[in-house]
Amino acid sequence: MLSRYFFLVGTWLRLVPEMRRPVIVVHGGATSFKESDHPAILEAVRRASSKGYAVMLERGTALEAVEAAVWVMEDSGLFTAGRGAAPNAEGFVELDAIIMDGNRLESGAVMAVRGITHPISLARYVLERTPNMQFVADGAIRLYEKMVREGYREEVAPGVTGMTPLAEGCDTVGAVAVDLYGRLASAASTSGWTGKLPGRVGDTPIVGAGVYANEVAAACCTGRGEQILRITMARMAVHYVEEGSTVRDATHNIMRVLRDRTTGEAGLIMVDSQGDVGIGFDTPYLPVGVMAGDLDEPWVSMRPSWPSG
Ligand code: ASP
Repeated sequence: MLSRYFFLVGTWLRLVPEMRRPVIVVHGGATSFKESDHPAILEAVRRASSKGYAVMLERGTALEAVEAAVWVMEDSGLFTAGRGAAPNAEGFVELDAIIMDGNRLESGAVMAVRGITHPISLARYVLERTPNMQFVADGAIRLYEKMVREGYREEVAPGVTGMTPLAEGCDTVGAVAVDLYGRLASAASTSGWTGKLPGRVGDTPIVGAGVYANEVAAACCTGRGEQILRITMARMAVHYVEEGSTVRDATHNIMRVLRDRTTGEAGLIMVDSQGDVGIGFDTPYLPVGVMAGDLDEPWVSMRPSWPSG
């Protein structure tokens, strides 16, 4: 009788998902920034990581957390994404965004969309409300209008500004997170490089290049999209973890491949299902914010060296 009781308790415990410590890492682009802009950028990554973390503390999913964090950075107007989006060679803004749910192995992405402020929410809509994963141009805009009509997201009036970017290059925004139940997600949003050709799409919204997440790890890349695409950087980085590497080693390995096989100029953030964090970059800066259970407040840095800080 007693052994039957223990068997039942054991079975029940296995059915209740184990609670873990949530962790979120956000970035504000692998590039160069003037020193006078560092405080504002660090404040933005601090706010974004706090927001995403708060979502998970309230039992929100990693997916909800990365959407919320990227939304905050899109809204800040500081990065070449959302309100700060930079114009292309013909003077208009085209935005790319993606969000990926590691456990479902599904993503939603939009590419070269015009006239909206928060493409990350449209990407989430694609993931949740369509049977497809990628939309471009006019079709994406029609979905956006449907999303607003349905009240799925309260989208502010189109406010893409084409402001002068702070970054000397391009400062895409992104986030990776693991929630209380060990579920992983990754998301990114960008207007791409200032002065890009109309219709150009970089790595950011391409699953496996700009972002990837499965049940083992999540990765989010930034920098020269054409170089990141050559090595499907996010997918390869996660693959190293599947093969037994720590996320820290995985980031080192993929940065070595980037250096050896391409002209570089990129970086990435990673987290695994245990909450371990990896960060790599070969650019002057990669502003990052990290928030985790064992931190009182977000850890932020323009040139992060994690975990030594
Ligand atoms: N990877 C982005 C692109 O090539 C730019 C960036 O990450 O800053 O569009």
